[in-house]
Amino acid sequence: MLKDDILRLKKETKTIILAHNYVESDVQDIADFCGDSLELSRKAKDCDASNIVFCGVRFMGETAKLLSPKARVIMPAANAGCPMAEMCQADALRAWKADNPDAYIVAYVNTTAATKALVDICVTSGNAERIVTKLDTNRPIMFLPDQNLGANLNRKLGIHMMLWNGYCHTHNHISTNDIQQAKVLHPDSPVIVHLECKPEVVEIADAALSTAGMITYVRNSSAKSFIIGTEEGMIYRLKTLFPDRSFYGLPHPILCPNMKRITLPLVYDALLGKGLEIQLPEEIMQRAVLPIERMLEMS
Ligand code: SF4
Repeated sequence: MLKDDILRLKKETKTIILAHNYVESDVQDIADFCGDSLELSRKAKDCDASNIVFCGVRFMGETAKLLSPKARVIMPAANAGCPMAEMCQADALRAWKADNPDAYIVAYVNTTAATKALVDICVTSGNAERIVTKLDTNRPIMFLPDQNLGANLNRKLGIHMMLWNGYCHTHNHISTNDIQQAKVLHPDSPVIVHLECKPEVVEIADAALSTAGMITYVRNSSAKSFIIGTEEGMIYRLKTLFPDRSFYGLPHPILCPNMKRITLPLVYDALLGKGLEIQLPEEIMQRAVLPIERMLEMS
């Protein structure tokens, strides 16, 4: 069986497989570790593996490479990118900085390494609130690239960060109507949505969290069932962790097509070195790791 072959090859090649919570269930099953961006960043930093197969989108593989520069980081699906990360290109940010030299730049970790090389600090959806609250700056703050996450932080913290005009197609697509319909179908289930959803969606949900935050929420809740407003892979992850609870999706499937590009046959090929190896110019490596390290120190 392919799964057995993958597990054997993983051992033989001394490879660690990291997988984001949004990848297909069979890929989650063979991973050494599943998690959100923050958890995977920490794992990449702490593991001393010489080979990492990263089942996620490209910016995540780049982050793993920045934190574990000696490791060979292979992406199983060369074309798995994050459209939101592509919405803030380094050239556009460089031009913006030239016009706004005083701005302090907070970047969601969903950014390319080239863009990270131009920012002051990174955040994930799991630590953004904590880090933005602690920032000690009188400078105007630009939050990029996710305008929804930025707007949700502005509203919750009563602050006025400038927002880049990026967004995640997958989460931006979720409407208040979807939430209302799901509530009618499952009236006793709290609604948990991702912080990348629009502010009006967050407003009518019971909680807006990162995927790791969703796991903690469920663990600490006495509810028996939950409505989950994020990519469907998370529903599988929650069902695996909490088999005695029920998890419902929204009336239409919430899918990230890029995460779904990662399949077991591609993971097998990646273990043979056939995927896309992340390689970054040295000057980008040196500069882009700084805002991530700042984030890890503060989170
Ligand atoms: S779910 Fe959205 S933010 Fe996450 S990788 Fe897919 S497109 Fe990017």
